[in-house]
Amino acid sequence: MIDLHTHSNISDGTDSPRELILKAQSAGISVLALTDHDTTSGWQEACDSLTSGMDLVLGAEISCQAEGGISVHMLGLLFDSENQALQAELAKTRENRLSRMDRIIEKLNVAGIEITIADVMAQLSDGATLGRPHLADALIAKGHVNSREDAFTALLHNQSKYYVAHYSPTPEDAIRLIKAAGGVAVIAHPYASHRGRVITAESFRGLVDAGLDGIEVDHRDHSETEKASLLRVAYSYDLAITGASDYHGSGKINKLAENTTELRQWEKLELRANNRRVVRK
Ligand code: AMP
Ligand code: ZN
Ligand code: FE
Ligand code: FE
Repeated sequence: MIDLHTHSNISDGTDSPRELILKAQSAGISVLALTDHDTTSGWQEACDSLTSGMDLVLGAEISCQAEGGISVHMLGLLFDSENQALQAELAKTRENRLSRMDRIIEKLNVAGIEITIADVMAQLSDGATLGRPHLADALIAKGHVNSREDAFTALLHNQSKYYVAHYSPTPEDAIRLIKAAGGVAVIAHPYASHRGRVITAESFRGLVDAGLDGIEVDHRDHSETEKASLLRVAYSYDLAITGASDYHGSGKINKLAENTTELRQWEKLELRANNRRVVRK
């Protein structure tokens, strides 16, 4: 079982990298990618926690903004974490997430919802990437909502009047940064239309020209029609096809390896990195 998209509490998942690795190993996963939002801070702990029997793929899910403010997530896998250009871009995004959170909180406060930045920061693990799920956790702690799901539905979704975007690179720039760092780029849940506006089939041309390696097709946020459309795009550009859980611990209902990637597709992807960076013990 190959699961190429998971989160730890180094972003908005709830398991530590160590807990995630242990759960994945006991679930019998053969290849696991750790892809926290806009950070590589969990890589060391994940490596240290790995024992034999599972291949670890280190990565990150990079927040991007396409034309018209469309939110896109780009999975970067197997890149060199010492690459300065990529790390600088991730740092810029993380920094901007802080002032963006202040602005969302301000809007909520104006509407009479009492919550402070301190409430939100209390939900964040040390050194983790700040995101709306932490605000959701703070709203739960204050008794405003019952779950992350409720918080997103009522207040935090992308079309909400409380929504504020943060700085992020274009998907093309993110791909170029990942590739320049020797990694591979897989676009995450590109047609998850119930989350908000999504990119068109035509916009894949530019992504492929920038170096896109794969498309995450099998993801719980895609309908069967959306999966079928994405398969056609993947075939037409000879891109790798992946499936993954987007596991977030107890932060989402997604179960580890509920969607998986075929070995042949994984091998195709792995070969496109400029170095053999899979961690194996
Ligand atoms: P942000 O990165 O701050 O824009 O927050 C987006 C993140 O929130 C996504 O990457 C998901 O992990 C999470 N998310 C989005 N919708 C939901 C939901 N309905 N329930 C729980 N988490 C969600
Ligand atoms: Zn997330
Ligand atoms: Fe995502
Ligand atoms: Fe994700």
